Parts: sequence; C-alpha cells; structure tokens
Amino acid sequence: MNFSYRDDQLLVRDTVRDFVRSRIVPEASGWNENGEFPLELLPELAALGLTGLAVPHEYGGAELDMLTIALVMEELGAGDGSVALTIAAHNSLCIGHLLIGASEEQKGRWLPPLARGEYLGCWALTEPSSGSDAISVQSRARRDGDDYMVSGTKQFITNGSIAGFAVVLAGAGERKVSAFGLRRGTAGLRVGRREEKMGLHASDTAQLVLEDCRVPAPDRIGRDGEAFNDVKRVLDRGRIGIGALAIGLGRASLEIAIGYAKERRQFGRPIADFEMIQWRLARARTELDAARLLVHRAAALADAGLRFTDAASKAKLYASEAATRAADSSLQVLGGYGYLQDFPIERHLRDVRLMEIGEGTSEIQRIVIARELLHVD
Ligand SMILES: Cc1cc2nc3c(=O)[nH]c(=O)nc-3n(C[C@H](O)[C@H](O)[C@H](O)COP(=O)(O)OP(=O)(O)OC[C@H]3O[C@@H](n4cnc5c(N)ncnc54)[C@H](O)[C@@H]3O)c2cc1C
Repeated sequence: MNFSYRDDQLLVRDTVRDFVRSRIVPEASGWNENGEFPLELLPELAALGLTGLAVPHEYGGAELDMLTIALVMEELGAGDGSVALTIAAHNSLCIGHLLIGASEEQKGRWLPPLARGEYLGCWALTEPSSGSDAISVQSRARRDGDDYMVSGTKQFITNGSIAGFAVVLAGAGERKVSAFGLRRGTAGLRVGRREEKMGLHASDTAQLVLEDCRVPAPDRIGRDGEAFNDVKRVLDRGRIGIGALAIGLGRASLEIAIGYAKERRQFGRPIADFEMIQWRLARARTELDAARLLVHRAAALADAGLRFTDAASKAKLYASEAATRAADSSLQVLGGYGYLQDFPIERHLRDVRLMEIGEGTSEIQRIVIARELLHVD
C-alpha cells in the first residue's frame, strides 16, 4: 500500500486549491444568488486545464490520471458545489463518453474545443420517465438515409442550456441505445424548461428537447444500439468524481465548524470544550477520511487498468452520505448561525444532497455492490 501522492499530483491539487480560495470562494455566494453559472469563469478554468482534465495532450487536454482528477474534484467541491458539478458534467460525462466511445476522427473534431473551454459540454441520458432504469428511454433514433432522425425529451441535464456540445443518448429499439454528438444550434434541438433546484443554484439544469433532429451518421458515437456499455463505463468514472466532490463539500463545512467551535463561547467556555461538539467533529473527520480512502482506492484501481465498478459505487455511496452527514453536523455546531446565509454551510448542505442522487442514487449503488457480492447480472 502506498498512501502518498506524487509531486505532480500535489502540485495540481495545490494550484487548484489556491485558485479556489482566491477566485471561487469569495464569489460563490453571489453566483448562487444570481442562479446562473458564471460563464466568465470558463477561460480561467480552461487556463488551469480544468476543462480537459483527462483529455490527452494531443487533443489539447491536461491528460491527468483518475487519482489526480479526484484530488481536483475535492478542491473544487470545497469551493463551490455548482462550479464543481459544472466541471464534473463537462469532463466526466460529456468528454468522458467521447474518450470511451468516440472514433479518432470524432475525437479530433470534438475534443480540442471542449478541452480549450471554448464551450461547455453536457451529457443527456435521463428522460422524464426514465431515470434509474436508464436503458428504458422513450426517445428514438430512426435511420433516414445517411442520417438519423432523433426525437425525445432529456431531463435534468447539467449544463443543458449553456453547453455548446451535447452527447445525447437515444433509444434504438427494445432496451438498446445509441449515442450522438450534437452541436448547439442543430436544427430540431432546443432547450426546454430550466429547473429550479433545492441547491446548486449556479449549476445549470435544463431539459433538452429533440424534435426530428437530423444527425449525420458520422456523428453517431460507438456502434448502433450498443452505447449502453459505454454509458456504464462513463458512470463508473463519473462516480469517483462525484464522491470526491462530495468530500470537498463536507470538508469545507467541517473546517468552518472547527473554527467556529473554538471561537464561540457558551456557559463560560468555548463550545469546542463540550464533548458532544467534539463527537460531531471527530465523527465527521473520520467519515470524510474513510470516504477519501474509498474514492482514492477506486481511482487507483482505474489508473492501474483494473476492474473498479463496485469500488466506484462503494466510494460514491459512502462519500455522498458521509459528506451529507458532515455538512449537517457542521451546521448543527454553528447553532442558529449555521442556519443563516452568513456562513456557506447551509449552501453546502443543500448542494451536497444531490450527490446521493445524481449519477445513480444511493439505492442504485447498493444494487451494483450487491450484484457484485452475489454474482448476479
Ligand atoms: C441536479 C441534477 C443534475 C443531473 N444531471 C444529469 C445529467 O447531466 N445528465 C443526465 O443524464 N442525468 C442527470 N441527472 C439525472 C439523475 O441522474 C437522476 O435524477 C437519477 O439517476 C435518478 O433518476 P430519477 O430522478 O428519475 O429517479 P427514479 O429512478 O424515478 O427513482 C426514484 C426513487 O426510486 C429509487 N429506485 C429506483 N429504482 C430502484 C430499484 N430498482 N430499487 C430500489 N430503489 C429504486 C431511487 O433510488 C429513488 O430513490 C441529474 C439530476 C439532478 C437532480
């Protein structure tokens, strides 16, 4: 076992940490109040390589391994859940699908502008009536000469209304899906409702509506009707990122609670002297450390080219739930002040809750883990 990080990994982590502290933390509350992703931040994120995290150098990306990406996602999460989720959807989902399923020709066309941050990408799998049972999509991709005609509604799409490029999954027969790469402005593709959410207010979530959207056959990603295996591989990697992001949100909440507990005095003493406060802090720190070990183990397995599906599910399941507990407990340490918007904990708590839902709910992670335990397909 090796519990240390390489110098280059620490350099990336510390660079992102400094950027988050100077550029994201001071602005995050305002961005969330505006309820929009700050697109003006995109060139700065791109300059740090954050818009092409895993993209090979030949396509203009940072070519980072999964463990380094986990370190980056934790730092972004510690700054703002919305910015972190925007980056996660762009990298892990949209670009992640291209890295797994696209041909070299498609990668050459699509990856460089995404990696340069010219525009954001999104990944559209979920539909109004197909969530956890993702393969049961109602959308349809029908062959029409050299093209496909794609119709359907995609639901809950992160970056949906601001992305310049979308990977769209559409039905291709009974329990079969195909993937397509679509540029913004393609005739027949429009943005539907923009969702109002409990948290993550600066992360864009929108419906995408496709009405007889004509997509040239060379823009199909992977084999016809066989995209679901790629979807599963995309989600395996994505779950590591979501786990890391959650840890960042939990960690940021805990750091505030530790500082507050030492300052705040009641009954003539700092509240940090009370064992019940110490218990909360100690439990949160221990669970976040355990979560990080699970996340980093999954990332290390992925980097070693080993199977990591159930490791990623365990990491995402535990990290998202531990981080929610940590944020909730941290809020309690601040008493009434924790409930005010004066501190970012209330925002972190609302943001972190999504991590138990997105990219497969906790229930779905338990199913994946049990399947592995019981050897059922
Ligand atoms: C803010 C946000 C951003 C998102 N971003 C994206 C995105 O970028 N792209 C995208 O494609 N999707 C995205 N999603 C969709 C997300 O992945 C789904 O919401 C999630 O997978 C759950 O699907 P559902 O909401 O339809 O819930 P459902 O599948 O309807 O589940 C409802 C409840 O039933 C439970 N359940 C379902 N099946 C089972 C079972 N077999 N056993 C036990 N319990 C079960 C679930 O765990 C859940 O508690 C996003 C969602 C949100 C809220």
